[in-house]
Amino acid sequence: MQDIEEKRVQDAVIKKTCLSSNTLYLATHIAYLIFFLFLHLYILVYINIGSVIFYLIQYFVIKNKKYGIYARLCGVEIVSYMFVATLLCGFKAGFHLCIIGLCIIAFYTSYFNKKRKAILPLGWSVMSAIIYLFLYFYCRFNETYYILDSWAEITLFVVHSLVVFSVITVYLNTFTSYALKLEEKIKKESRTDTLTKVYNRHALYDYLLTLENKDEYNLVILDIDDFKKINDTYGHICGDFILKEVARLSDNYSDDDFVSRYGGEEFVIILKSRGDFESSIKYVDGLRELIQNHEFIYDNKEIHLTITIGIARYIKDISIDDWINTADMKLYEGKNSGKNKTVS
Ligand code: GH3
Ligand code: MG
Ligand code: MG
Repeated sequence: MQDIEEKRVQDAVIKKTCLSSNTLYLATHIAYLIFFLFLHLYILVYINIGSVIFYLIQYFVIKNKKYGIYARLCGVEIVSYMFVATLLCGFKAGFHLCIIGLCIIAFYTSYFNKKRKAILPLGWSVMSAIIYLFLYFYCRFNETYYILDSWAEITLFVVHSLVVFSVITVYLNTFTSYALKLEEKIKKESRTDTLTKVYNRHALYDYLLTLENKDEYNLVILDIDDFKKINDTYGHICGDFILKEVARLSDNYSDDDFVSRYGGEEFVIILKSRGDFESSIKYVDGLRELIQNHEFIYDNKEIHLTITIGIARYIKDISIDDWINTADMKLYEGKNSGKNKTVS
């Protein structure tokens, strides 16, 4: 399910693209209007008055967040305009170029559409290519209604090229930066534990696999003591709250170290050595004491808990699983000998 934040960002992106493209289309048609008035090409003047009114109305469509309708109406306007204008002025004026930008808009709009249908932008592209070629051959074998001076043709061709390149740039730039941000977010989420927001087990293995100089690190497993009782006494939601708090305390305690949720109520910390091994044990035992002395307040109730810790240093050429298992065995030694302790 799409979360609310993502929907908000998406809405803002689409709105920004619609507004900037609408302003570009409006400005272009106003410029055409003046240009054709100057050339006394009155059919085109009337058509452009229609287009200017059309794009002014489109601001209301955008304001009402009807982005799909906005894009379709733009598509219809662009196709009709360039069709009629090409028949009137010929191929050399470059009206046909607008239809290339239309293909990009069709794919962009379809991507952001809730009911994505890959066939729709493909349909627009095929239709665009057919119209494009039809106009090419029509103009090749038929006289056009207006015979433009060559400077007028060149001016129109240059304006069309610039408009089409601008439209393509606006749409592709917005789409690419949105897609990159989304990719970043998805990558981050795939490495984060949804409940506690520390790294998940998958990220832990990734981290260990790429960790250089492993002998400078210690692997710490911590497990909440009698956590089941907390769930049984205060409820599962309270249990979740405790897990989040323990993760937060562990993460804050060890700034540069890698804190992950290994599963259930177990966390793994990849601890950068604090001097010799004894100092690292002392350091991590400080976290145990911190949690022991912490007052967890849930629903106005004070809850106290303890954790047991197993810590193992890296032994040359040991596998990652064996490194974890060694720390796990230490943890269970701690559990079997009274809990609330750090075992190395
Ligand atoms: P020990 O001191 O030996 O570790 O005992 P324990 O009760 O902490 O451990 P045990 O393995 O018996 O129980 C762990 C409990 O953690 C059982 C499970 O329901 C609970 N648990 C696992 N994941 C979650 C979670 O995401 N949220 C909550 N609220 N509870 C969870
Ligand atoms: Mg436990
Ligand atoms: Mg456990």
